[in-house]
Amino acid sequence: MLKLEDIHKFYGKGKEKKVEALKGINLEVEKGEIFGVVGFSGAGKSTLIRCVNLLERPTSGKVLINGVDLLTLSPKALRAQRKKIGMIFQQYNMLESKTIFHNVSIPLILEGRPKQEIKEKVEQLLDFVGLKDRIDHYPNQLSGGQKQRVGIARALATDPDILLCDEATSALDPNTTEAVLDLLRKVRDEFGLTILMITHEMNVIRDVCDKMAVIENGVIVEQGPVIDVFTEPKTEIARSFVQTVLNDNLPNSVKKLISDSNQVSNIYRIIFKGASTGAPLLSTTAKQFAVDLNVIHGLITELQGIPFGNLVVQFSGDQQEIQRAVQFISEQEAVIREVSDNAI
Ligand code: ADP
Repeated sequence: MLKLEDIHKFYGKGKEKKVEALKGINLEVEKGEIFGVVGFSGAGKSTLIRCVNLLERPTSGKVLINGVDLLTLSPKALRAQRKKIGMIFQQYNMLESKTIFHNVSIPLILEGRPKQEIKEKVEQLLDFVGLKDRIDHYPNQLSGGQKQRVGIARALATDPDILLCDEATSALDPNTTEAVLDLLRKVRDEFGLTILMITHEMNVIRDVCDKMAVIENGVIVEQGPVIDVFTEPKTEIARSFVQTVLNDNLPNSVKKLISDSNQVSNIYRIIFKGASTGAPLLSTTAKQFAVDLNVIHGLITELQGIPFGNLVVQFSGDQQEIQRAVQFISEQEAVIREVSDNAI
């Protein structure tokens, strides 16, 4: 559906001034998927999303939509393709002096659609985002969340296939963020849209995305299904993003237990996902091997409807038997690693 191939983007001219904001980005988003790109400020997120609709022209690479490279299109063909790509922004980009009706109708007016058709379409879109009663209001009469709903209605006006979300919830409080994310999910479910979003907030990725990528210094350092990155982050930066929402820091009492214990403390972190969360893995292990298991800290939650657990367990018993038990768990649908004093 949407594929970025080896995208490079340089800003500035001359050797000294050149900034390489994107350094060979490869990314693929399937139809109907919600794909989130997370990164710190300056990582290249805005540049990346703006390269998809050529608001920024990549210096090299391919922007493929259904196999067609936008960079090869004539201006006319590009204009037609761009109608298929909607976009919403952190700051909403509303015309403050125009009504909500007018703001949503702008893309349709630009297309020269008949007045009656515009009226019907705008009413239908505002109804979809739950703001039909605000049709004659002005942007400054709306809350941030309502403005973003208007932004979504406007982005949908041209019946796009792809929706780009540029930090769409970053200016909103947590409850409003949740409501806007629910609406984006509804947009995907009802219109079958493909959604690419950039954010610095990992809770947004957790709550709405199917797949994700982590960008750092213009490079995608990690990508995959959200559940995989959350359960097994491979890079330090991904791990730190995951920690911002799944606080798996150990309480001081547990840290003390680890640092006070002898060389071998036999404390392990076990990460379960999917079916294994429901399976009685710990009791099976305790029955099968001569070990006692003591859960000293833990979290069990759900990610994208998939159960997910992160438990810290102390093993006691014969050292060889503990090793066999650990080996057994590692062969199940779970990740297990020892928690030592310097890797808490
Ligand atoms: P993010 O959205 O993750 O904060 P950006 O894509 O805005 O990152 O920026 C990536 C890098 O490109 C930064 O080093 C930034 O300073 C630089 N940059 C962004 N836009 C421009 C521009 N118009 N001219 C020069 N450098 C830019």
